[in-house]
Amino acid sequence: MFSQFALHERLLKAVAELKFVEPTPVQTAAIPPALEGRDLRVTAQTGSGKTAAFVLPMLNRLMGDAKPRVVIRAVILLPTRELAQQTLKEVERFSQFTFIKSGLITGGEDFKVQAAMLRKVPDVLIGTPGRLLEQLNAGNLDLKNVEVLVLDEADRMLDMGFAEDVQRLAGECKGAHQTMLFSATSGGAGLREMVASVLREPQHLQLNSVSQLNEGTRQQIITADHNQHKEQLVHWLLANETYQKAIIFTNTRVQADRLYGRLVATDHKVFVLHGEKDQKDRKLAIDRLKQGGVKILVATDVAARGLDVDGLDLVINFDMPRSGDEYVHRIGRTGRAGGEGLAVSLICHGDWNLMSSIERYLKQSFERRTIKELKGTYQGPKKVKASGKAVGVKKKKTDKKTEKKAPAKTATKRKTANRPKSDAPALVSRDGLAPLKRKKPTEPAAE
Ligand code: AMP
Repeated sequence: MFSQFALHERLLKAVAELKFVEPTPVQTAAIPPALEGRDLRVTAQTGSGKTAAFVLPMLNRLMGDAKPRVVIRAVILLPTRELAQQTLKEVERFSQFTFIKSGLITGGEDFKVQAAMLRKVPDVLIGTPGRLLEQLNAGNLDLKNVEVLVLDEADRMLDMGFAEDVQRLAGECKGAHQTMLFSATSGGAGLREMVASVLREPQHLQLNSVSQLNEGTRQQIITADHNQHKEQLVHWLLANETYQKAIIFTNTRVQADRLYGRLVATDHKVFVLHGEKDQKDRKLAIDRLKQGGVKILVATDVAARGLDVDGLDLVINFDMPRSGDEYVHRIGRTGRAGGEGLAVSLICHGDWNLMSSIERYLKQSFERRTIKELKGTYQGPKKVKASGKAVGVKKKKTDKKTEKKAPAKTATKRKTANRPKSDAPALVSRDGLAPLKRKKPTEPAAE
């Protein structure tokens, strides 16, 4: 029960209005220390209820000490516009019975309109780092009196190249303040550096490990010969799976547009979301998906980051994500709030190593699936012995269907004995980064 927390009655009223009955694990763990004013570092997956875990204590603090609105008192930084918009809505829902006013600053919106909003000085400011910094540099933003700073999806902000911007903005919060940093993954050196520089003696709450993510989501792979074959598989899945809403991820904008075109041509109601779409289109795509007017979204990672859409129960990875963390983020969209989901990754020759390194990173084995009428020739890598002889397809115990079809003489046990125990970091760096060097994201920040 939320009444177990020492929250202001107006916040409890909002919680009841939203029909939240039981706090989620991250809320149970984070709200009490956050109410005490402690700095927190929280590792919790997307969809775990982490927004309320920081918004409620933040609002409680602002309510405890009502002041005329002359300074910005709380700042929430997020990696993308969509996530910032969602968070604004969440803050407004929780603060509906209070005097607290919030403002949003993201890229893609009118700079002067934002400056005018800042002159009215919201209590809570929610935004993406790039545009906030621009407003700061233009002299429109004063963060000296901030009492609560939240860095949400901090790992993702780092991945998107916002490290410096975030540090700079955090550095502008010069007064005594509480900082709460949330990330979906435990992150690597970059995140540790940020934690060390922006948090003071933080309590670390680890609510998940990647291997426990999305227990309600089945994770499968289907091998494919080439992109055209993948397109056929997508059509098949959309026609044969039972789902309320589906999202198909590609690694590039070009591929997203291409697949979108193919689906539209076959009369699917579908939207495409990527960094080149303007803000209006993006909003429309998300709204239509939320309202159910459209069931299918084709998207790149950056554009779809943090989407919280009810009933999203099918994720198709047209391209394998480039890192284990990205995989977690994509799959985090299904099986939310305990629901069931299905995630299918389409694997060509070039995707295999990445896929198996992500399996090791997650310490999970994806279910191998074959679609009879679309079975291609590629079934996984052939291993070449020192003698140069092909020894067959790597198999998994769970792969009953494919195993039956594989010629007995080529079947070989999955070799694990010689694999270093910590081979995940070797192949997949701290954040599950694939062997590909990924200094910059393929898609620039969505700002
Ligand atoms: P989040 O991880 O904050 O994006 O939350 C995921 C979804 O769960 C959002 O739609 C929230 O409104 C919802 N949610 C969060 N906490 C609760 C709760 N205690 N009870 C019911 N729904 C919740």
